[in-house]
Amino acid sequence: MTREEYIASLRNMKLNVYFMGEKIDNPVDHPVIRPSMNSVALTYELAQQEEYKELMTATSNLTGKTINRFTHLHQSADDLVKKIRMQRLMGQKTASCFQRCVGLDAFNAIYSTTFEIDAAHGTEYHKRFIEYMKYVQDKDLVVDGAMTDPKGDRSLSPSQQEDADLYLRIVEIRPDGIVVRGAKAHQTGAVNSHEHLIMPTIALKEADKDYAVSFAVPGDAEGVIMIYGRQSCDTRKMEKGADIDVGNTEYGGHEALVIFDDVFVPNERVFMCGEYEFAGMLVERFAGYHRQSYACKTGVGDVLIGAAALAADYNGVPKASHIKDKLIEMVHLNETLWCCAVACSALGHRMPAGNYMVDLLLANVNKQNVTRLPYEISRLAEDIAGGLMVTMPAEQDLRDERIGHYVRKYLKGATGKDTENRMRVLRLIENITLGTAAVGYRTESMHGAGSPQAQRVMISRQGNIEAKKEMAKRIAKLDESKDK
Ligand code: SF4
Ligand code: FE
Repeated sequence: MTREEYIASLRNMKLNVYFMGEKIDNPVDHPVIRPSMNSVALTYELAQQEEYKELMTATSNLTGKTINRFTHLHQSADDLVKKIRMQRLMGQKTASCFQRCVGLDAFNAIYSTTFEIDAAHGTEYHKRFIEYMKYVQDKDLVVDGAMTDPKGDRSLSPSQQEDADLYLRIVEIRPDGIVVRGAKAHQTGAVNSHEHLIMPTIALKEADKDYAVSFAVPGDAEGVIMIYGRQSCDTRKMEKGADIDVGNTEYGGHEALVIFDDVFVPNERVFMCGEYEFAGMLVERFAGYHRQSYACKTGVGDVLIGAAALAADYNGVPKASHIKDKLIEMVHLNETLWCCAVACSALGHRMPAGNYMVDLLLANVNKQNVTRLPYEISRLAEDIAGGLMVTMPAEQDLRDERIGHYVRKYLKGATGKDTENRMRVLRLIENITLGTAAVGYRTESMHGAGSPQAQRVMISRQGNIEAKKEMAKRIAKLDESKDK
């Protein structure tokens, strides 16, 4: 699809969206939602441009056709590297979350897992999923890969919860399909998606069989309700004459609480139904891919480093040695993130289903780094920007006939530099570190694709401490017969 076709396709959907207590009949033109849609639209726009075709498109292993890389089943480690290069590019162009990665990561995780479920159970989930993928690739759809349940009391399993719906579950099995109830929280790009593709959120035991479910439904299926998440400074987008204050008027990202109120799913769109012993495998694979995906942060980081360097120019201190050193440190941190993203991709391996999986240990180390380094990069950006980034007057004051000249005079920085430009750069830094884009850069770095402890569990599982002990024992010539 072209950018225009994508936008038109969203207009044709009858989405059930709420924001700040109101039902939003036209999400496409809503000032708060529109920038997030623009970010997704750019995944279509760049795919049409010759210079980005190599990164933004791929050849489908299912149909042989040229498809958008956001719908591709990775066929090599090189495909995995191209995926993260595409994500860094998109981060650089939007300085936001561009949302389409969650679907891509779900496609690849479900493709390989359904193959293995069928091998064990003689089911036909993989065949169904292949047909679904052909549909997604041919129509060039945006799919919300949905994993995270609300989870209620974290000390209890899904079936032990006081309210059985706190994890999404099957409430009825019919001859022609299933009925599901529950919710998925923090759903990135949900309102800009054509489809929701659901996965379980944790490893499950037999008692939790009803929660072992994977399926796809259109975004406007009967019973699907989306409640759009609030972001810091979001209503600035609804203010008149707040162009500078928004910091990034063109692009953004969003999350939504997506509710499934007894939604019917026909059999051909069901990809797991009760095979609880495969839930953990699916979670681990999706999480692995999505922890690789946080390469997006390096693209946004590039913009933040650039904005910090510009702020130094407008403050008149580009030559100060401590400023130069802070910028070097920011680059070092950002490229350290990139190293891990490249490494976990380059060391990817082929799965039994034929598509490629990232190196799980390195993908988890990548995400663990992401829970820390963007905070330090943000701290340095705020250090260089100065306090004005959070204390300066509004654009309305700059434009006011009575006081505008004061704002222009007293907010002026380096000789020869324009005050308004200085304000714009500072507001961009505010947007990425504290404003609407901070959802996709700062706090998302902590909790997106799983909170830090989730990666530590995987690192402990994949780290193979026992093998390392053997290495040390051999070198140190331990005689364990002497140990009690
Ligand atoms: Fe993609 Fe990053 Fe947004 Fe996740 S946070 S959907 S990886 S851009
Ligand atoms: Fe995310």
